[in-house]
Amino acid sequence: MTDKEHLTGLNIEQIRRDFPVLKRTVGNDKPLVYLDNAATSQTPVQVIAEITRFYRDHNANIHRGVHTLSVESTDLYEGARNTIAEFLGAPSASECIFTRNTTESINLVASAWGKSNLQEGDEIVISEIEHHSNIVPWQIIRDELNVSLRFIPMLADGSLDVDAAAEIIGPRTKLVAITAMANSLGNITPLADIIEMAKKHDALVLVDGAQSAPHMQTDVAALGADFFACSAHKMLGPTGIGLLWAKAEVLDTMQPFMTGGDMISTVTMSQSTWAEIPAKFEAGTPNIEGAIAFGAACNYLDNIGMTSIRNHEKELTGLALDKLNSIEEITIFGPSDVEKRGGVISFALQGIHPHDIGQFLDSEGIAIRAGHHCAQPVMSALNVPATARASFYLYNTEAEIDHLTDTLNQVVKYFG
Ligand code: PMP
Repeated sequence: MTDKEHLTGLNIEQIRRDFPVLKRTVGNDKPLVYLDNAATSQTPVQVIAEITRFYRDHNANIHRGVHTLSVESTDLYEGARNTIAEFLGAPSASECIFTRNTTESINLVASAWGKSNLQEGDEIVISEIEHHSNIVPWQIIRDELNVSLRFIPMLADGSLDVDAAAEIIGPRTKLVAITAMANSLGNITPLADIIEMAKKHDALVLVDGAQSAPHMQTDVAALGADFFACSAHKMLGPTGIGLLWAKAEVLDTMQPFMTGGDMISTVTMSQSTWAEIPAKFEAGTPNIEGAIAFGAACNYLDNIGMTSIRNHEKELTGLALDKLNSIEEITIFGPSDVEKRGGVISFALQGIHPHDIGQFLDSEGIAIRAGHHCAQPVMSALNVPATARASFYLYNTEAEIDHLTDTLNQVVKYFG
């Protein structure tokens, strides 16, 4: 049975033909099995072509010139903003700010929103399952502005303690910054519940969508949050480009994050005024071809369909959980219900260091991540220094899961 027949919705063989890197070999001349998608996804020819086309046919700065190339570059860049806004369900493209990545998007909010809106005594709520990029910027703001930083703890299966969240989110909470899907264990967070709790207290909500935007339908307007951050490189786009969506009325309360060219309205030698959003938050020459290619990646995902992608990953994850659980020495972290997790499986093999697992798998062509996944508090809560993590995307197959399982059995034999 082929993967096309077995797994619902997607024509995997055809999709794989769009990703040149999946044809290469690694390690000891083994076909690449790419299972590190939670770190960075691969790039289809349709996206690569846009990067090449930009430099071949249009390359010029945006918003600057009246000459043809500059006008074309501007149209492509702003066109990409419209495409991404639509992909994320943003009511207006002007609410979509290009950044370098999720990390920069969150830093922008912490700095620009925090400094304009927080006062001593206010509280920010995050959770124990956040990526470091949704922890460290808030620690810095806590110390700079003398506000409190509280966190929603994690339960044993990696899910959020929602009962505790109801106690922690209160009248002093000004912002809840929470991941939609944890990168370390793959948990999908109960966003609707958390957002409802925050809204009861008129707190704003920032959603870290780095892991959800690539794998699940996003509708920021329906979500009811105020900020949403994501990175193109996890959603078939290039590195160095990401997005912050925020409600226009919230962006209007914020001072600029960075200053310089393109974000001003007027400049005199004594003072300056700011451009309207989104330009107000995009100082300097941006990653123009990155933004255009990000738009192409959203088009690619949209053509395949986010529901089909999510269903494919649910099916793959269910198969992987079943197959991997047949290995006696394995501990799989995170929830067992595929409805509650994305295509991320973090695991340990008794007595074998995750880096040894990663290196052995690499010699067989399998790319996984081994480490703390920029989520050291999660590792502390699990009482492990690191985990091995396999993460799936639309181009992964059941045959690859079988290869992973067989190779992990070899790892156990080799190190056992
Ligand atoms: N949040 C989550 C949940 C992530 O998985 C990541 C990337 N691993 C980030 C934030 C940071 O993304 P980036 O490195 O693209 O800024």
